Amino acid sequence: MILIFSGDAKEKDIDNAVKKIEAIGFHPHISRGALRTIVGITGDDRAIPEEEFNQLPGVEQILHVLKPYKLASRDFHPDDTVIKVNEKLIGKGTFTVIAGPCSVEDSEQVETIAAFLESLKLKFIRGGAFKPRSSPYSFQGLGEDGLKILRHSADRHGLAVVTEVLSAHDVELVGRYTDIFQVGARNMQNFALLKALGRVKKPILLKRSMMAKVEEFLLSAEYIMKEGNSDVILCERGIRTFETATRNTLDIAAIPVIKRFSHLPVIIDPSHSMGDWHYVNPASLASIAAGADGLIIEVHPDPLLAKSDGKQSLSPDRFKNLFKQLEKISKVLEIDIQ
Ligand code: PEP
Ligand code: MN
Repeated sequence: MILIFSGDAKEKDIDNAVKKIEAIGFHPHISRGALRTIVGITGDDRAIPEEEFNQLPGVEQILHVLKPYKLASRDFHPDDTVIKVNEKLIGKGTFTVIAGPCSVEDSEQVETIAAFLESLKLKFIRGGAFKPRSSPYSFQGLGEDGLKILRHSADRHGLAVVTEVLSAHDVELVGRYTDIFQVGARNMQNFALLKALGRVKKPILLKRSMMAKVEEFLLSAEYIMKEGNSDVILCERGIRTFETATRNTLDIAAIPVIKRFSHLPVIIDPSHSMGDWHYVNPASLASIAAGADGLIIEVHPDPLLAKSDGKQSLSPDRFKNLFKQLEKISKVLEIDIQ
């Protein structure tokens, strides 16, 4: 249930409602928009005494959010969410390009990519140190040594770090090095991990499971938000269908669908969606045109030598070509690319 306050509601009216919600054992979530404030009450709606809230000063309307996700829904937060990472913004009017290798392999590899991204004035580097590989015999990542390499080069080149955390147990360790926690597709329904990330003070890049419906994806975001962390970036990375020509099927339709029902930023991972560098450009261009808020792309100094996902990784030259095309489209769409 959400309480919508009138534009001229006083701060003390909102405080009063918040206290009342807490007094009956529910959790209030405040969303301050440009025009009005909304206070969400999560829990079993039937147990909330609606008539008591109806009478409160400042309350203009009470709405029941019919979707199973509440805090992630547009009803609760009508404006698009903009996420601040250090001084950089993700969402609404900015198109964020995050790039870097699938796995952190050594300091030279990461340094080459970090310097390259800085030369393009990009702001975010990705790289996995804890890798969720389908086979236990594949390269599993460098662990904390990899995080140190990533942090070091990111700091040298003014970049923010995006890296994956595989389990709730590693949240504290990964949090010492990263600016954004990535939750991989295979962990989208690792609820213990989602809850742990709901208690950190850094944004979460939540990838859609290859088997999840949009509704399940948003419910996973809800797990994080319910614990108090509303800085969730949704990442579509392809779903599994009957088609095997590409590694996964990029669900471009998820962009407008999510944007209709949720206020959270949506970014696309064309690398894992397509699984082959040949298709990364068209998938990226389609994504910006369809209204995505950004991309996360795998780039490797020498894709043929990559320890993971070389086939889908762009070389720096190929990435540069793509970036030029994205810049052209961003001008037409009047989006600030960064
Ligand atoms: C990755 O980003 O390298 C990765 C493993 O992605 P996903 O979880 O989408 O498969
Ligand atoms: Mn990868």
